[in-house]
Amino acid sequence: MLSAMVNTYNYKADLAYLDDRRAPMTETLRAWCAINSGSANLSGLKAMHGALAEAFSALGVEVETVPSGPHRIVTRDGEVVEQPVGDMLRLVKRPQAPVRVLLVGHMDTVFGADHPFQSEKFLDDDTLNAPGAADMKGGLLVMLNALMAIENSSLADRIGYEVLINADEEIGSIGSAHMLTEAAKRAQFACVYEPALPDGTLAGARKGSGNFAAVIRGKSAHAGREHHLGRNAIAAAADFISGVDKLTGQREGLTVNVARVDGGGPNNVVPELAVVRFNVRLEQPEDSDWLLEQANALIADIDGREGYSAKLEGGFTRPPKPMTPQLNAFFLALRAAGVDLGLNIDWVPTGGCCDGNNIAAAGIPVIDTLGVRGAHIHSSAEYAKLDSLVERAKLSTLLLLKIAAGEIPNPGEFVNTEKH
Ligand SMILES: [Zn+2]
Repeated sequence: MLSAMVNTYNYKADLAYLDDRRAPMTETLRAWCAINSGSANLSGLKAMHGALAEAFSALGVEVETVPSGPHRIVTRDGEVVEQPVGDMLRLVKRPQAPVRVLLVGHMDTVFGADHPFQSEKFLDDDTLNAPGAADMKGGLLVMLNALMAIENSSLADRIGYEVLINADEEIGSIGSAHMLTEAAKRAQFACVYEPALPDGTLAGARKGSGNFAAVIRGKSAHAGREHHLGRNAIAAAADFISGVDKLTGQREGLTVNVARVDGGGPNNVVPELAVVRFNVRLEQPEDSDWLLEQANALIADIDGREGYSAKLEGGFTRPPKPMTPQLNAFFLALRAAGVDLGLNIDWVPTGGCCDGNNIAAAGIPVIDTLGVRGAHIHSSAEYAKLDSLVERAKLSTLLLLKIAAGEIPNPGEFVNTEKH
């Protein structure tokens, strides 16, 4: 029955809906990039949320505002404090449909209200340099327009979706990760709208990531008169740093980057506090336990010294996203959809991570670079290729329509036939 549909279904007519969307998408992208929505800028995030809610209401369904949990940070004084996070945006359409996809994006950017990069510049007719243009306001537009094309197609009834747009992706999604995990349980597969590379290459496997702070306390004393009474927290931190730095490479693909040290003061005072911040990237899920064991042993060594205390804050927030046979099958399905559009879909592993890591860990296949083509994200040189707005919207549309038509397999129903 499905094969009959395949032979008669006219994708071209549905995709034609997107043909003249470049100009309005560009206009909206410029308007969205003009709103500063740095992860800590709550009023900016609120404005961005409002703009998104208005745009996504075109899908004809109630747009919900969902509060995020707090983000936890370790201050320069070694204290753990909770910071508020912007609200998430969520909408659900046809949750009982045979095809159920989770679409995820983020409204926050890495550029705070005080960052010098606040305005747009056209590098050429096709290239918009603007904060968040690629990462990922362009991607949010790709998602929205693909869904609008789906709504206009006669296969819409077969496609149910949940859209989740969070406001803390760029700081690790600590306050929204639970929503991603829950939403993943309701879907068969997921699409995330991080940017692709300028040539259209997507991210395949991703490393996992954890952020930590070692808080080391000693005892201050006058460096001249009572040096022997002091306990130098920075000297102890140096031991910790050299120990944790040596963990790089002890597991395949595992890296430790000691990024910042806070503490200390005048030259004539033995410093009583050091805060060592470091990031860990890893390929194998089980290596997170190994890393914690090693780091905790280094902490325990310092904590056991007379007059010192040490503790480890933080944790792994992005589990590794391996290239499973199921994910590979999903990519092959996307490649098949790309052929019809004249696109050659390729993917490469990356050390970077995103919400796709958390969704994959929740058990469903996810392709997480379905947004615009672009580059230099997280820098003032960030740009989005405007010709990719329609191109990538068509790619997502065709992917979902072909899955709905049964022409390409539902990635959530993949059965691994490989023998182990
Ligand atoms: Zn992003």
